[in-house]
Amino acid sequence: MSLHKLTLHELQEKFTKGEVTAREIVSAYSLRIKQVEPKVKAYITLVKESAMAQAEALDQKLKSWRRTMPLMGMPLAIKDNICTEGVLTTCASRILGAFVPPYDATVIARLRGQGYLLLGKTNLDEFAMGSSTENSGFGPSRNPWNLSSVPGGSSGGSAAAVAADECVAALGSDTGGSIRQPAACCGVVGLKPTYGRVSRFGLVAFASSLDQIGPITKDVTDAAMLLNVIAGHDPLDSTSANVPVPDYTKALKKKDVKKLKLGLPREYFAEGLDQEVERAVREAAEELKKLGGEIKDVALPATDAAIATYYLIATAEASSNLARYDGVKYGLRSKQTKDLLEMYMKTRQEGFGPEVKRRIMLGTYALSAGYYDAYYGKAQAVRTLIRRDFEAAFQEVDLLVTPVMPTPAFKLGERIQEPLQMYLSDIYTISANLAGIPAISVPCGFSKAGLPIGLQILGRPFEEETVLRGAYAYEQATGWRAKRPNIR
Ligand code: GLN
Repeated sequence: MSLHKLTLHELQEKFTKGEVTAREIVSAYSLRIKQVEPKVKAYITLVKESAMAQAEALDQKLKSWRRTMPLMGMPLAIKDNICTEGVLTTCASRILGAFVPPYDATVIARLRGQGYLLLGKTNLDEFAMGSSTENSGFGPSRNPWNLSSVPGGSSGGSAAAVAADECVAALGSDTGGSIRQPAACCGVVGLKPTYGRVSRFGLVAFASSLDQIGPITKDVTDAAMLLNVIAGHDPLDSTSANVPVPDYTKALKKKDVKKLKLGLPREYFAEGLDQEVERAVREAAEELKKLGGEIKDVALPATDAAIATYYLIATAEASSNLARYDGVKYGLRSKQTKDLLEMYMKTRQEGFGPEVKRRIMLGTYALSAGYYDAYYGKAQAVRTLIRRDFEAAFQEVDLLVTPVMPTPAFKLGERIQEPLQMYLSDIYTISANLAGIPAISVPCGFSKAGLPIGLQILGRPFEEETVLRGAYAYEQATGWRAKRPNIR
């Protein structure tokens, strides 16, 4: 079997047994990228040469070392809003088009500490704002299942790279669904951890109270393996939680959900949900019932306020976080301006794309004197209601089972002129960020048109183990993973 088709745990096993060298692994991926990347466009920057140099050095050292580190020789792709020392990190924005970070994000330092190889930096919606990767300042990525469809967003490059076998696994970031939604669109697994579970140090901030980094992988086992490496307290991130990190792969021992209560929130199966998606998700719930779960109907009454709440809080935080791109400290600086004010204005005008500008304006408005209480203050109050809905639901059940997205991946260009339509596609994912809880997207079927559909499983704060167990039991019982996109 070709190396690029293997999961992370399969490739790691081969490598650990000495059946394959790091050099062979990087060669296999380089070839694969050469074949399919011109069609998929998952990457903004590729660093295959340095990956090869590292692989060769590793193979040399392994003549006298033992293969002990879990990610030794494993070629990963990283979303381009996560800082990598010495490697371009653009956030898919012209304003950071030439930005080379002088330091690694904590997650990168941890991956490096376990021997991973960086293959490249993946495409995203500019500053992670979007649901299709079309807001990238460097052109969209495409869905490996159908090149005229979007791969989802904002971590669309990472999800497309995993689905098209252009890396063994990837990292994404999720502020309102940006790991889970592209994972669903591309038929792969995406996990958003609890807020505070994974350090945000070195993740370029979009909305700091919502952002989390997490794995995008070929299966649930790989997600658990990557979470093992990136999770844990970090003194460099003041919102990082000092909570012990279990071995998440142990959570996968049980291939059932016996004694677990699973809730179907009725608000998530209402108007606007595509019939094919609804059928696939309800069938998945039935499957979980067969595996020993008890299915219950639950209510999350504040759901209809989630989009408005999210788009006030996220834009408010973004307008503040993006104030730093002023042409002075780093990034683009507009030339030949007559004074400082004009330099600020032109830099931002030239550097930011339309969606980012829209959000800065929305957020600035929501935070302005006279409107603050009516918009931002109100949104914070509703955020509390949303969190309480989940707390109440998790008194009754252990996990929630829902769709990830109302429809399968849409066509490129279909929603780009209608921001509200784009925002509405986040309805099932944003509440987990507002409440800070963990959630996973796992493949649960296909539409008639052959596009993947995702199942979302949400859990209590810091109970990623239960979320992973549910997803694993479902994955093992169904085997959707066997179906791969036919891209060459
Ligand atoms: N689609 C949402 C947005 O546009 C979520 C983005 C994200 O999670 N980064 O804001």
